Amino acid sequence: MKNSILQTKDILIAGPCSAESEEQLISTALELAKLNEVQVLRAGIWKPRTCPGGFEGVGTKGLAWLAEAKKQTGLFTATEVATPKHVEDALHFGVDVLWIGSRTSVNPFLVQSISEVLKGTDATVLIKNPVNPDVNLWAGAVKRIQQSGIENIGLVHRGFTSYGNKEFRNAPMWQIPLELKRQFPELPMICDPSHITGSSDLIASIAQKSIDLHFDGLIIESHISPNDAWTDKKQQITPAQLQTILSSLNRSLVDFDQLDVEVKIDALRYQINQFDDDLLQLISSRMKIAERIGEIKTANKMEVVQTNRWNKVLEKVVTQSRDTQLSEEFVLALMELLHSESIRIQRK
Ligand code: PEP
Ligand code: MN
Repeated sequence: MKNSILQTKDILIAGPCSAESEEQLISTALELAKLNEVQVLRAGIWKPRTCPGGFEGVGTKGLAWLAEAKKQTGLFTATEVATPKHVEDALHFGVDVLWIGSRTSVNPFLVQSISEVLKGTDATVLIKNPVNPDVNLWAGAVKRIQQSGIENIGLVHRGFTSYGNKEFRNAPMWQIPLELKRQFPELPMICDPSHITGSSDLIASIAQKSIDLHFDGLIIESHISPNDAWTDKKQQITPAQLQTILSSLNRSLVDFDQLDVEVKIDALRYQINQFDDDLLQLISSRMKIAERIGEIKTANKMEVVQTNRWNKVLEKVVTQSRDTQLSEEFVLALMELLHSESIRIQRK
């Protein structure tokens, strides 16, 4: 049955990255409730950490704190689930919204096992994008949850891991959530500027961009005392800072067609920049290897240019280039350029 939680216009979910103590959670919740704009209180109870040894969440006891926060504030509650046991425990304690994190939505086995335990429940489930920029993997996770009969589903765009990306913690790659919106127009798309930016001072601009792109809501990390936060310190903001950001947002909808073109170009330029960074890195690694070969050649009094070997390289590259839609002429010119730089390095 459809419930009203995700039906609200401009859904706003806020709360700490992690529940740390009952006091921290309840005091944050009370401040957030005072803003009169937050509908759902978020708090991670089980935390997926990149490296072992860090704080991995308070675990099940935090579910009772969420229930208490709900009692005191009237806010709906939300937490991350990554295993069937998490789902059972969270539902048992009356958590209103379950979110599947980006390190879980990436794994079809996990999503499937969560989907199976959701069957027959009327849970509300948010599906964060998988960490890697794969439209089909995200869409697949949505379909798996839909297959369990869950009707209250929302999507969360939290950006994507991308090698060499320095501007944001997770690259927004807006094209991907826009494509998901196109495939699932009935599902609300919520932006998570906290995990995209990784930085409290960039949250407002990403939140604004998501509004301009007609996203349906925001999930923002807010902590009573961000400097003392046990996780994601740099991106958490106080409830008062959240209020300032919310009042700065321009909610009048701009011409979508117009903006879509801009965003498309932006996103593509962003990708080009990523590829250029990667290309430079790769070429630099290639030249370092050429340098080592040069040292061996010099030590063994060998000729720098080995025509046979080079002809074989060219032959192989030209054959491979047939599947790439790159012209043979371009590929040859590029290889010549790389080769002459290798020779220059080897003769140094
Ligand atoms: C979170 O919301 O705290 C979280 C861990 O998110 P993500 O899965 O997007 O990294
Ligand atoms: Mn977090």
